[in-house]
Amino acid sequence: MVQIPALEYTPVDDIPQLVSKVRAGFRTHKTKPVEYRLKQLRKLYWGFKDNEAELAEACKRDLGKSNFETYITETGWCKNDILFVCRNLEKWAKDESAPDIDLMNKFFAPKIRKDPMGTVLVIGAYNFPVQLSMGPMIGAIAAGCSCILKPSESAPAAAAVMQKIIRESLDPSCYDCIQGAIPETTALLDQKWDKIFYTGGATVGTIIAKKAAETLTPVALELGGRNPAIVTKHANPHLAARRLLWAKFMNAGQVCVSQNYIMVDQEILPLFLKEVEKTLKEFFPQGAKASPDYGRIANVKQFQRLKKMLDESKGRIIFGGTMDESDLFLEPTVVQVDDPKDSLLVDESFGPLIPIYVTKDLDEAIAMANEIHDTPLGIYPFGNKKETARVLNETQSGGASINDGFYHASIPTLAFGGVGTSGTGAYRGKSSFDVFTHRRSVTTTPAWIEGMLSIRYPPYAGKLDKF
Ligand code: NAD
Repeated sequence: MVQIPALEYTPVDDIPQLVSKVRAGFRTHKTKPVEYRLKQLRKLYWGFKDNEAELAEACKRDLGKSNFETYITETGWCKNDILFVCRNLEKWAKDESAPDIDLMNKFFAPKIRKDPMGTVLVIGAYNFPVQLSMGPMIGAIAAGCSCILKPSESAPAAAAVMQKIIRESLDPSCYDCIQGAIPETTALLDQKWDKIFYTGGATVGTIIAKKAAETLTPVALELGGRNPAIVTKHANPHLAARRLLWAKFMNAGQVCVSQNYIMVDQEILPLFLKEVEKTLKEFFPQGAKASPDYGRIANVKQFQRLKKMLDESKGRIIFGGTMDESDLFLEPTVVQVDDPKDSLLVDESFGPLIPIYVTKDLDEAIAMANEIHDTPLGIYPFGNKKETARVLNETQSGGASINDGFYHASIPTLAFGGVGTSGTGAYRGKSSFDVFTHRRSVTTTPAWIEGMLSIRYPPYAGKLDKF
């Protein structure tokens, strides 16, 4: 039987001292040698391996995740990220020479050092509780920062296992995991940080950004979705249905980067809906409730929010719609919505509800995507090359997957992040290192060059003519 430690919130009064401890750790400079960072990352890797069963059980308890989903989106994901970072860290951490310099400036050896930003705070979200907490923390360790993680209290089992892994694997003088909800996070935000990396909704993102602004602390914000998918009349309806349903029903729709709504060209709608029906039967042959592969909503608050959204929508349920609060089960639900202002379209559902809006052509779909949210986290056009290129050209988004749902977010070497109100700052691959690194420009002026430098000193009379 796998044992999951109970989640215990960190006493608020202990927080200043815990933060001071990791700040003091950073000030010893021990996090700076690449060998130290690699050692921490390797220990973390083994921490993951040793606790893989605990993490799988925790994600099952918190979100009803299947072991398969936990492996590909949480534990396997983080282990691969660590291996990728370890393979490349030496190269990334090296000084860079200044590009395109003239002969004179070469004498000053201009270069960029990759300095750690310092002591950083990572605040995670609940939907991929491991990936969204440990992913940024891996970047912070790689960059040579000391770091405190505050996982989401809405995934309590995963939060408790991560704390165990961090405390058992990493140098306690430089890394810690603090648990809690709003009071504890507020106490953390009252401390001085060198960077805050937050993943979650825009409302809390705004609180974090305001608080950080008081001390001019830089932030990376990975925020919410409201992402459109567009299915044009030239799209392959079979592929569009399979790929979009996969993207939406993973983790019971609690995926920031999956499509929030689908706009389907009127010409292809009947074929598309037929494929949706076929796909639902194929993915969940005994129905989603009986399927070991379909997750649950994280908690009653989220469940009731989703139920209210569905109740208040004027759309027609075409597939699904059943729910069971006692099991936090919400069936994959497809709703046809006619009102472009329906809250199912304009608000983020962050659950297994797919509103479909029928468009008369691509012009209407692009206009509507820009109207609902001009800077979503992702956009997913399905169609021919000309159509999908047009969508990219005439919209903005954090990322995009052409003819797929959010695949761009699963490429480990591609930077992941939002734009505008879907976020600022990106991570994954080298970007996870960069986001916690200060590129410090440095020159070294040799003594022998003083004669050549005399031109820069006053008095300036007659010197301008020499240029
Ligand atoms: P959440 O409930 O997990 O909260 C996120 C974090 O904010 C938690 O650690 C929580 O303790 C903290 N928090 C909550 N209220 C706070 C307050 N008043 N002050 C300080 N801290 C506070 O997650 P959520 O915000 O409900 O997550 C859902 C949202 O996150 C969705 O909008 C989703 O799209 C977005 N999200 C974005 C990404 C991304 O990578 N861009 C990933 C996952 C989720």
